[in-house]
Amino acid sequence: MANGVLVIFDQNAGDIRHVVLEMLTVARSLGKGPVTALTFGTDAAKTLPKLAEYGADRAVFWESYTQYSSDGFSAAIAQSFPQFDADVILFPANAWGKDLSARLSEVLGAGLATDCLHLEAEASGRVKAIRPVYAGKALAEVVINTPVQMFSLRPNINAAEVHHVNPEVLDIAPSVDPATFQAVVVERKEAQTGTIELTEADIIVSGGRGMKAPENFQLLDALAAALGAAVGSSRPVADEGWVPHSYHIGQTGKVVSPTVYFAIGISGAIQHLAGISGSKYIVAVNNDPEAPIFKVANYGIVGDLFEVVPRLTEEIKAL
Ligand code: FAD
Repeated sequence: MANGVLVIFDQNAGDIRHVVLEMLTVARSLGKGPVTALTFGTDAAKTLPKLAEYGADRAVFWESYTQYSSDGFSAAIAQSFPQFDADVILFPANAWGKDLSARLSEVLGAGLATDCLHLEAEASGRVKAIRPVYAGKALAEVVINTPVQMFSLRPNINAAEVHHVNPEVLDIAPSVDPATFQAVVVERKEAQTGTIELTEADIIVSGGRGMKAPENFQLLDALAAALGAAVGSSRPVADEGWVPHSYHIGQTGKVVSPTVYFAIGISGAIQHLAGISGSKYIVAVNNDPEAPIFKVANYGIVGDLFEVVPRLTEEIKAL
């Protein structure tokens, strides 16, 4: 009976996101059968050294699938699935993983727990997931009862541990022809949040309606540059067009889990907090001492952001 773990991820020119290394570590920690890594597109095989460093026992590269297609990729994975020797499938809980895992779950008839924080193996061999519910207000323990269990993992929560192996590269070739894919991604544009993707960022400087006007985000850009941070925002400022929608963090935006999250001129509405509850430290700058953000902040500065932020930037630059 299949008892391995299949780790499915996207790659870009051979670069792997940090969450993939976290997924490989989690996959090994389950103590099940072989950990197989599957990725797609041009330069997929260039990911092999990283897979070897972080403990993938086996690797599969489908380089001919150059354009992402959720219907095409899920059909190909489902067709080849028996050859992967897996009863657990892991995805990153990023936009790509959310899209493909949902489709694959339907095609395989497998239960899926999304945006999980932790996974652990039960004595029965099944996997228990811990995931946030009610916009992060509570944590639920989830066990999936279908023969194949699927999970997506939130980035930046689990450690990535080096575990050197010599992966076997499997020659598994699905017969699903890319020409039959119904919908493909024809162009990919990286979001303009500096050079750091928000969901992967270690430090995030985020602005809300308290910034007053789009041009004032320059203050946050300067602070972020000093810190090596990414810039994010609350939803209303993205809706207003002050910043691109890719900045929007929260229940209906990106879920982030940095080490430090700066909430600047953000009140701390429940829908915003849903996206930042995985942050290790929250630093709030707000001129209203009663702002709800101070209830969750580890450090708070009550003051006018237009005075505080430039001073903070200067102090950090001077370090
Ligand atoms: P405000 O609530 O207006 O807060 C601005 C803050 O700036 C205030 O606390 C104020 O004291 C402070 N401030 C003002 N001037 C200064 C100054 N000079 N110096 C320092 N501080 C200052 N919101 C999200 O962010 N993400 C979501 O994903 C999201 N999803 C939603 C989904 C639904 C279904 C709904 C109904 C709402 C959602 N919202 C979301 C909106 C959310 O409810 C809040 O309205 C929003 O988060 C508030 O944004 P804000 O904190 O930027 O603005």
